[in-house]
Parts: sequence; C-alpha cells; structure tokens
Amino acid sequence: MKIRETETTSLFKNLQWRFKRYRRDATSREQEKLAETRDRMLLVIEARWILLVALCAYGLFATNLLAAARPEYSPDYHQGAILAGTLFAATSCNIFYHLFYRELSHFTVANHVQVVLDIIVTTTFIQYSGGIYSPLWSLYPLLALEASLLLEQPRNAWLFGIMACMAFGALIVTGDSESLQLSGAPFFTKDPQQKPLSALLLWSWATMITIAVTLIGSHIIRANRRKEDALKQLVVKDQMTNLYNRSYFFKELNREIQRSIRYSRVFSIVFLDIDHFKEFNDTYGHLEGDRLLLELAGILRKSVRRSETDQAYDIDVPCRYGGEEFGIILPETPISTTTKEPGVTADMNAAAFAERIRREIASLRVNGNSITVSIGIASFPQHGTTPDELVKSVDDALYRAKNRGKNRIVIAGNEANPNQKGPGYRHSVNEVCPLP
Ligand code: GH3
Ligand code: MG
Ligand code: MG
Repeated sequence: MKIRETETTSLFKNLQWRFKRYRRDATSREQEKLAETRDRMLLVIEARWILLVALCAYGLFATNLLAAARPEYSPDYHQGAILAGTLFAATSCNIFYHLFYRELSHFTVANHVQVVLDIIVTTTFIQYSGGIYSPLWSLYPLLALEASLLLEQPRNAWLFGIMACMAFGALIVTGDSESLQLSGAPFFTKDPQQKPLSALLLWSWATMITIAVTLIGSHIIRANRRKEDALKQLVVKDQMTNLYNRSYFFKELNREIQRSIRYSRVFSIVFLDIDHFKEFNDTYGHLEGDRLLLELAGILRKSVRRSETDQAYDIDVPCRYGGEEFGIILPETPISTTTKEPGVTADMNAAAFAERIRREIASLRVNGNSITVSIGIASFPQHGTTPDELVKSVDDALYRAKNRGKNRIVIAGNEANPNQKGPGYRHSVNEVCPLP
C-alpha cells in the first residue's frame, strides 16, 4: 500500500539529525540496510491492518451474537469503552506509522516503540475480553514474530518475546477475575466447553486468527520470493542489457552439452561482435554506444525462441558475453538443415538465424550510419564437445569473419568454404556429425 511519496518534513529532518542511526550521510551499504528496514516496517504495518480488521470483525460478531442469544444481557459500557478506545489508539498509531514509516525507519527506537505499543495493546485487549479465558492470547506469538522481523539484534527480539510472555504471566497472576465479571464479559465465560455460545466464539476467533496468520504468512513469503527472484536475476543477468551474463552462458552451455550427449542431440552457438564499435564510441560518445548495445540486445531478445508467459520455458539463451560481444545458445538447432527432413523448413537452423539477425542489424540507422556485426557459428558435437572447444571454435570463426572484412557470418571449421559478404550470403549445407 503506497500512501505518499518520500518527503521528509522539517520536523523529521530535525529529529533525524539528532537521533538517526547514522551520524553522517548514510553510505550505500547503510542505505541498503535502511531500505530493508523500511520494507520490513511496511510488512508489519500491513500485517497489523489485517489483525485490526480481524479484531473489529470478531468484536462486532461476538457482540451481535451475544445480543441475539442473550437479550437479558446488559452490556458493560466501561469495558466496551476501553476496548473501543484501545482499538482506536491502535488504529491511529498504525495510520501514523503507515504515513511516516519511511522517515521513522531512520530511527532504531521507532521499531522498539512499535513492539512495546503492540504488547500493551494486546495485553489490554486480552484483559478486557475475558482475561485469562480470552483466546486473544494467540496474538502473543505474532508479537514475537513482529519483534524478530523488526529488531535487528536477535537478543532484542528475544527480549521483547519474553516481555510479551511476562505480560501475559502478569495478567494471569494479578488478574482479578471477579472484577472482570467474566460471566458477563461480552466474549467469554469460564467454561467454554459447557456453553455452546462460548464454544462458537472461541471457534470463530481461532478461525479468524488462522486466516489472519495465513494472510500474513503468505504476505511475508510473497515479499521474500520477490526479493529472491530479484536477487536471482541480479546473479544471472547483465545489468545493462538485461540479457544473461557470461557466467550464466557457461552454466547453460554445460547443461546443453550434457543434455545433448545423453539424448544424442545437436545444438549451435552463435557469437556476434559489433564492427568498429570503438570508432562508434569515439565518434558519438559512450552513452550513444550504450544505447546501441541496448538496441542490439532488444533485437536479440525478440529474435530468439522464447516463451511469452514464463522465462523458464524460453528455448534459446541470449547472453552478453562481454563488452560488445554477444553469445546465443540455440538448443536442438543444427547449423544448417535440409528441407527433406519432415517438419523442418530451410530457415530452422543457426545459419539462417544468424543471417536474419545480421540483416536486421545492418538495416538499423544510427545518426544516418549503418551498423554491422560479424558473426561466428559453431555446433555440438561437430566443432567441439566441451565448453572450451566450442567457444574456441566459435571464437576462431568470428575472428575469421573480422579478418575477411566484417559484416559477415563464418561457420567454424569451414575454412574451405568462405562465406560471402552481405545480403547475397548463402550458407553451405553442413552435415552434422553423428555422436562419437
Ligand atoms: P572490431 O570491428 O574489430 O570488432 O573493432 P571494435 O572497435 O568493435 O572492437 P574493439 O575490441 O577494438 O573495441 C571494443 C569497444 O567496445 C571498446 C570499448 O570501449 C567498447 N565497449 C565495451 N563495452 C562497452 C559498453 O558497455 N558501453 C560502451 N559504450 N562501449 C563499450
Ligand atoms: Mg567489435
Ligand atoms: Mg569485441
């Protein structure tokens, strides 16, 4: 839930200066920690909304049920007023925290205050909803969860967890059951099993708290999954182009080799390097160079076989191998195909794929100039059966493409059949060797 954009008021600025965690301007690591604290604070605030709604719903339900089942019952307005006042105070506090959690996250003490307030509110709720017979005690474990989420030091989380237990203990020891008029308490009687109404109320609260805990749990898990996914992407993706990075390329290459050996399959790898990119950078500047890299990454992404719904089902693996070099793994793809094969058309091969990309890039116009790329192709097992052999083969092919004048495609180990330049290019039909 987003209430408003960050905007530190002068009051908060002043307070931050006096009490914030970091005396100087926060370093980037401190900023990261701050962002994490902010996320966790928001999580707790949202969880508290869920619980407050559950409490309101339960209070209304219990009161109405009681009024319908026992018309002779005269409500204890003092008790009701304390419960309503506590609910109001808790709601106001949560609104305050929700509005200012960004600013409050700068103060360690703000989290301690939250936990202490929740212990007080919970204990008051329990005290005035049946005391030791109130099932609201089940909120205490949630307080321990809150403390462990909010407080950085585990010993503090323990301390506040123990405080919550002590609060309940104190309530039991000092609780004067008679003064609470338990038999007249709107929620519970001393002997719930004997009284269907009490049993129904007990069951409804157990159901509500279970639903609330499930909601909070799934909320926490979803937030964690989002973080995990972002981290995973950070590990396997190139931050600039959003293509896979070099280490992921090798991981996938290894996997594809193992798969192809096991099932006697072929696959190809395509390496692509921008021609005269240094010159381009020198002429138009590195920012313009970056933009070109992004554009090429976009062309690669849309040219490969991928799933529109889930990346896990993508087939080809486009990667940024380094600087202005890209590598693409094409599973189940020979360098060339004969149209005699059933269900296979002439363009379902690595050479045709490379030619499509080469043409598309050559048709780009940047500041009125055309951009070209040189491409090398190698396939498993014809040009290598290990990652090193395959990368060496495709590198050699790319090197030859550069040496022969750039803007062309060269197939590894195809020395006798140099490829022609430009749109007139036709790849030769290479037979893919059977597995050794
Ligand atoms: P060739 O045609 O032989 O490939 O020559 P080239 O100029 O493309 O290749 P060279 O290896 O001499 O230069 C590569 C250039 O790529 C140098 C470097 O500044 C640039 N480069 C590498 N990574 C990036 C990047 O992330 N952004 C930008 N703008 N330039 C980059
Ligand atoms: Mg280059
Ligand atoms: Mg290069």
